[in-house]
Amino acid sequence: MNVKPIEEDTLFLRKTISDLTEQIDQLTVLQDISKQIISKFDFNQIINTFLDLVNEIINYNSCILYLYHGDSNSYRVSGLRGVSEKDLKSYELDYEIIDWVLKEGRWAHISSFKRPDQKNNSFISILPLQGAKRDLGFLLIFSDPEKDVFTQANMKHLSFVASQTGIALENQDLYSKLSHSEEYIKNILESINNGIITMDTEDRITQINKNATAMLGLPSGDIIGVNYKDTLAKNLVKMIDNVKKRTIKDGFTLDTLFEYSPIKDLKIPLGINSSLLLDDEGNRIGIIIVLRDMSASKELERLRQLDEMKSEFVSNVSHELRSPLSVIKSYVETLLNRVDSGDYETRREFLTVVSDETDRLAALVNDLLDISRIESGRFEIELGPVRLSDSIQTVFRDLENISSKHQIVVDIPSDLPDLLADRDKMFQVFLNLIDNTVKFSPDGGKVAIKAEVKGKMIKCDISDQGIGIDSEDLPHIFEKFYRVDSSDSYEISGTGLGLSIVKHIVESHGGKISVRSKPGKGSTFTVLLPFDRN
Ligand code: ADP
Repeated sequence: MNVKPIEEDTLFLRKTISDLTEQIDQLTVLQDISKQIISKFDFNQIINTFLDLVNEIINYNSCILYLYHGDSNSYRVSGLRGVSEKDLKSYELDYEIIDWVLKEGRWAHISSFKRPDQKNNSFISILPLQGAKRDLGFLLIFSDPEKDVFTQANMKHLSFVASQTGIALENQDLYSKLSHSEEYIKNILESINNGIITMDTEDRITQINKNATAMLGLPSGDIIGVNYKDTLAKNLVKMIDNVKKRTIKDGFTLDTLFEYSPIKDLKIPLGINSSLLLDDEGNRIGIIIVLRDMSASKELERLRQLDEMKSEFVSNVSHELRSPLSVIKSYVETLLNRVDSGDYETRREFLTVVSDETDRLAALVNDLLDISRIESGRFEIELGPVRLSDSIQTVFRDLENISSKHQIVVDIPSDLPDLLADRDKMFQVFLNLIDNTVKFSPDGGKVAIKAEVKGKMIKCDISDQGIGIDSEDLPHIFEKFYRVDSSDSYEISGTGLGLSIVKHIVESHGGKISVRSKPGKGSTFTVLLPFDRN
C-alpha cells in the first residue's frame, strides 16, 4: 500500500489554507473597495474615492481624470491630483493612443513622458473607465519609472477599481436623472390647479399635490405611502372606494359631483374624475384621481361675467345719463342767455324738452333703484284687481316714440277677467315690453297686443315685426344689463335693465314670461299672469 507521508499532507493543507486566506483577504479588499465606491451617489465623492484608491494601490506622482461630456461631445478634465490647472496644457497626449485605449478598453503604458516640472522621464499609464454600454473616460497616471508599481496584482486591483467607478458613475447619472425627473413631475403636479392623488394597487397614496391636500382639508404632514383608508375622513373614503371600483371596472370615471364637507356648514362641490395607471406592459399599477373645486371655478366664472357686465353697464348708464343731461344743459343755457323773457312760445317749447329729458333721467334712475331693490330683496308688490286693457291704454298714452309707420292692433276681449296684480308694476311691465316693440322696429310695422284666458292664467302676447333677436342672444335678454350687440340695435338707446325688471315683476306675481323671435322678422313676448278670482 502506498501511504503518503503525513508531513506531505500537512504541507499541502497549510499551503491550501494560506492560499485560501490570501484569496479571502483579497476578496475582502475588493469588497471593501466596491463598497467604498458604489455607496457614493455624489459625483465629487465618487471621483475623490476613485483617485484615493488608485493612489493607495500604486502611489502615483500625479494623475488627470478625463470624463466624457455628451453636451460638448468631448472628454474634459474632471479630476486632478498633483497637477495644477495652468500646467494642464503641457500634459496633453497624442490622441491616437487614447483612442486605442478607449476602443480596446485596455491599459496602455508610455515610459518616455517628460513631465514639465521634473527633469526625469515619467512613466505614464492610461487607464480606461467604462460603463455598461459606453466609454466614460480615462485616467492618466504619472509615476516614477523606478518604482515598479504595475505588478499583476496591482493591475488587477486597478482594473477592479476602474470598473466599480464606472458602475458608480453610471448609477450616479441615473440617480441624478431620476431625482430630476421626480422633481420635475412634482413641480408639474404642484403647478396644476386641480387636486391630484395617485394610489397604488395596495391603496397607498403615492402622490398628492398641495391643491388636493387643501381641497380635502388634509393635514399638511406627509401621507405618501399611507393607505387612504387610514388617513382620510369617512365620507371621503366612501367616495374614493366608489370611484376606485368604477375605475377598475371601466378604466376611468367621468366628472361626477361630490359635495365635500371638511367642516360643519361648509360644503365644497368637487368635480371628480379618475383613470387607471398602467405600466409599460399595460398592467394596472394604481389609479389617478383628479379633483376640481367647482365652487371656485363657478364663482370665478360668475365673477368674471359680473365684472364684464358691470363695466358694460357703467358705460351704458354713463351714456344714458350724459345724453339727457347735455340736452338739458344746452336748452337751459339757451333759455338763460338767448331767449327773450317775453318769448313765451319758445320758452315753453324749450322747457318741454327739459321736462321730457328730466323724465328720461328719472326713468333711468328708477330702473336702477328697482334693480337695487330687487337685489337687496326690498322689492314689494301690492296686489289688487287690475284691468289689463287699462294698463295697456295708459302705456300707449305715455309712449311718444310710436311713429305713423307703426300700426297698433290691440285684441283684448271685453270680458277678460281682471289681473290680480300691482297696478304700478303692471304698467311698468307693459310699458317696457311695448316700448321695446316700438324701439326695436325702427321701420315700423304691426305692433300687436293680444290677450286671452289660458287655464288659470291670463296670457298676453306682445308682438312686433322689428329687427328680431338672434337665437344665441335669446337666452340672455332677461339678464341684467344684457343688450344685443348688433349693428341694427347700435343706435337704439337702453340700459339692458328693462327686461330683467319685467321678468322679476312677472315672476313675483306667480307668472311667467317667454319670448319667440326671428331675426329680421320680429319678436313675440308672452306673459302669463294670474287673474283675480273674486
Ligand atoms: P334695453 O331697453 O336697454 O334695450 P331691455 O332689458 O328692455 O333693455 O332689453 C334687452 C335687450 O333685448 C335689448 O337691448 C334688445 O337687444 C333686446 N330686445 C328686447 N325687446 C326686443 C324686441 N321687441 N325686439 C328686438 N330686440 C329686443
